[in-house]
Amino acid sequence: MSASSSNDCLIVDGEDYIPTEEEEIAAIDFELRQIEREQQKLADQKQILIQRKEKIRDNALLKKSLTLSRKNWDTENFSWSKNLRKALTEVFNIKDMRPLQLPTINATMSGEDVLLVMPTGGGKSLCYQLPAVIGKGITIVVSPLVALMEDQLHGLHKNNVKAMMLSSKAGKENVKTIMTSLVDSKSGLKLIYVTPEYMAKSNRFMSKLQKAHEMRRLDRFAIDEVHCCSQWGHDFRPDYKFLGILKSMFPGVPILGLTATAPAKIIVDVQKMLEIQGCLVLRAPFNRPNLFYEVRRKPADKDTCLAMIENLLKNRFEGKSGIIYTTTIKDAEQLTTDLRAKGLKVGCYHAVLEPEFRTQVYSKWISGSYQAVVATIAFGLGIDKPDVRFVIHHCLSKSMESYYQESGRAGRDGKKSSCIVLYKLSDVFKLSTMVFQDKVGLQNLYNMLAFCLNSSSCRRSLIATHFEETWTKKDCAEMCDHCKKPKERREIDVGPYCRQLYTIMTKAVQSETRLTALKLLDSWFNKGAVALRVTSIPIPKFSRETGEAIVGHLLVNGYLQEDFHFSAYSTISYIKRGPKAGVALANDHKILFEYEKC
Ligand code: ADP
Ligand code: MG
Ligand code: ZN
Repeated sequence: MSASSSNDCLIVDGEDYIPTEEEEIAAIDFELRQIEREQQKLADQKQILIQRKEKIRDNALLKKSLTLSRKNWDTENFSWSKNLRKALTEVFNIKDMRPLQLPTINATMSGEDVLLVMPTGGGKSLCYQLPAVIGKGITIVVSPLVALMEDQLHGLHKNNVKAMMLSSKAGKENVKTIMTSLVDSKSGLKLIYVTPEYMAKSNRFMSKLQKAHEMRRLDRFAIDEVHCCSQWGHDFRPDYKFLGILKSMFPGVPILGLTATAPAKIIVDVQKMLEIQGCLVLRAPFNRPNLFYEVRRKPADKDTCLAMIENLLKNRFEGKSGIIYTTTIKDAEQLTTDLRAKGLKVGCYHAVLEPEFRTQVYSKWISGSYQAVVATIAFGLGIDKPDVRFVIHHCLSKSMESYYQESGRAGRDGKKSSCIVLYKLSDVFKLSTMVFQDKVGLQNLYNMLAFCLNSSSCRRSLIATHFEETWTKKDCAEMCDHCKKPKERREIDVGPYCRQLYTIMTKAVQSETRLTALKLLDSWFNKGAVALRVTSIPIPKFSRETGEAIVGHLLVNGYLQEDFHFSAYSTISYIKRGPKAGVALANDHKILFEYEKC
């Protein structure tokens, strides 16, 4: 007999039986559970179908990419090849193309969609500038940063190429000229630079683009920093979503996406976001053989740290030019003042300075009157100095991608240069409170942390693995701290320490205190507030630095996690048990950790 909500009474043994309210509710609950189970089943089925669809789509993309990649694009047998050569030397004053520039140009000129992955400074811009110059129509360059666009316009105007830009800052006259040139085949305008925001907001521009398309004047869309389309990237920008309409709105107009960010997941995601049905993906190698990678422990004490940098600048890098990256504007200013007090010639650079002042700092650095620029990451766009001999990170970067880009500003001339990260655990929390709200902000930061904590692997192999490059040991040739001077390592099980830290944390919870990493370490090393210490836990025999490295290792591996709280003036990172605490609590659970034997 089944209960049904529409039955007000049930027949039992031929008698009228009126169920109690409780019985009725129980019957309804039963039915609701049944429905929920059905719903769950359907939801599971839906998920499976979605995944199958995605997979088929992914495979189709890859198949098309593979077919395209089999064609030889690296030749000069195309109908435009002669013109291309001529423009290269006569307009751009460049003797030869760099690897992947020719294949990219040939493919986009053939009307194919292309994604070019090339490290910063590799020469991606030429891949759309050169086709724009020899084409009849217009190339639309979508770029996220006005400063970047200004740099490029400046360069193009020097070479007498007609290019203009559209952004919220553009003057009325300029906008008008651009709008008319778009639909005027005699205008001679070759490139229009535009921010994605502007495109998304300006109906006028989009409608002119449609007209230009009807007139067959749209040669291609070049999308710089194309990884910004992907939410998986380190740099997602919502306005890039709008670019998804280009393919359907302008059928037949090829897209050329450019980025220095490589992971396959992002490359596939970008194609989907842009509605590209499979394209040619070209990747330049990421290894920079002339860069020496090194991670140093950053002294906890400010003066010792300052002395370390002073020593580097006065000895190892004497007479050489470099960049010192800091995280905040305040840090950049303070460090500049401190280094100047030591008699060093350095300039400070960050986004809040007046443009004229920034230009001044930049010129003094280019001319050599400043040995180094102490800068936030705002310094980097459009740096065109080949002989940067060192890049020092006063604080670790937010992600491996940023690190690669920032350190990559060293040694563009191919000569040996050094990239040094000064790492300490407390800097991680300075950054984590800045990035934790991004979807993958913390994961990216922990990747960087893992890179700093690693005590034995070749730095180059770690970078290569991150960028999904194949790797052989000889690629380093002792050009990193670990390969140059292998140290004796010891692997220990830090499972017991992890459990001790949990005990400390439990005690804190009982006394309603939250622990920052600093307080956690203090308690572990029998320092700080007595109320937070646990007498049954032995004081570690190793150094505090090793203790910090263990905490870092536990964070990276999910045994600990950060817990963010807002105070009136800032965000604070507390430490709590991580998602893997359940596993770690088993007494025989091992957590392997490798450290330098001192
Ligand atoms: P990316 O966008 O990949 O970071 P850019 O396009 O800004 O790099 O180019 C970096 C520098 O390399 C620029 O100064 C550019 O003029 C120069 N460059 C590009 N291609 C070549 C080439 N084939 N030969 C010499 N210099 C080049
Ligand atoms: Mg670029
Ligand atoms: Zn190495």
